[in-house]
Amino acid sequence: MNLEAQHYRDHFEVKSKLVDPFAREINYLRLSVTDRCDFRCLYCMSENMQFLPKKDLLTLEELDYMCSTFIKLGVKKLRVTGGEPLVRRDIMKFFERISRHLQTDLLEELTLTTNGSQLRRFSNDLYKMGVRRVNVSLDTLNEEKFNKITRWGRLSQVLDGIQAAQDAGLRVKINTVALKNFNENELFSITDWCSSKNLDLTFIEVMPMGELEQEDRKSQYWSLKDLRNKLEENYSLYDLEENTGGPARYVKVKETQQTIGFITPLTHNFCESCNRVRVTCTGDLFMCLGQENNANLRDTIRKYPKNPERLESAIRSAIDNKPKGHDFDYSRTDIKGQMSRHMSHTGG
Ligand code: SAM
Ligand code: SF4
Repeated sequence: MNLEAQHYRDHFEVKSKLVDPFAREINYLRLSVTDRCDFRCLYCMSENMQFLPKKDLLTLEELDYMCSTFIKLGVKKLRVTGGEPLVRRDIMKFFERISRHLQTDLLEELTLTTNGSQLRRFSNDLYKMGVRRVNVSLDTLNEEKFNKITRWGRLSQVLDGIQAAQDAGLRVKINTVALKNFNENELFSITDWCSSKNLDLTFIEVMPMGELEQEDRKSQYWSLKDLRNKLEENYSLYDLEENTGGPARYVKVKETQQTIGFITPLTHNFCESCNRVRVTCTGDLFMCLGQENNANLRDTIRKYPKNPERLESAIRSAIDNKPKGHDFDYSRTDIKGQMSRHMSHTGG
């Protein structure tokens, strides 16, 4: 730690940790920094999205103030997401500011989830700011299908972004939403491509978010249990014990030595170890992805800008209301627990 970092740390008052009523320590924050995006993925946004007025978004300074408060309360991992985080104006200034917490070791990891479109431009800077891992969402390797699912995206730009990220020294994980009748037939090509490019891979079960018609949702739903069974037709998979406190479970592929993750947010298999909360770009703190319960931190930040105790106590009371688990439930005839908000607002 350099002298400046040491000085900063000496004057940074660390408070007692955030622990919820079920004795889960909250040390992971996912932060959406914008609801805007340069893509319009079918399962995430409608084509004519009405975005929020800019004044409703936390400013970069407010984001920094809020994240620093979470770090004071024991948050060790911060994942920046959106919308598309890299289309937020001056977002690198935020990364630069927040990276001071990496230098003091108060923050252990600063990561990002992105659609990859801007990685050519920003990868070197991200690395300089201390980011070491990025998740890039990519559901298909076929250009036409890519246009179809993202509506506005270009596959070549994303592939180039992934290359730029790797060249900059970032470890890249591909996040692929499992979509029946869409990328089922690419299961092996995506897996092999990731293996050949030394990319980690995680499959995500599609969630009942946003505005898709119920019929579309049902025809799109591809359970990861079925996906895994299909993978096992070609590969031998071994369960890994690795548990990040989140909804991902990991396997090792014997033939390729790859690690593959499965994120099944619709099942209840991870709530008891949940260590995370989310904050939207408007400062709403969601204690659980699957429930509407939230606390508006922006009001507290704007009403008491010079009173960190107010923000700390607003965060603590919200954590006191973190639910034990969530309510998602797909059934054949109805979709219960469907969320009205978009992933782009909450931050996926
Ligand atoms: N724009 C960035 C990206 O696409 O990676 C970050 C935000 S995006 C909302 C985060 C993740 O949520 C992406 O991996 C995306 O595929 C996933 N996602 C969005 N809508 C989803 C849905 N309805 N079900 C499952 N995953 C979804
Ligand atoms: Fe944009 Fe990501 Fe949503 Fe696609 S999934 S529309 S890239 S925010």
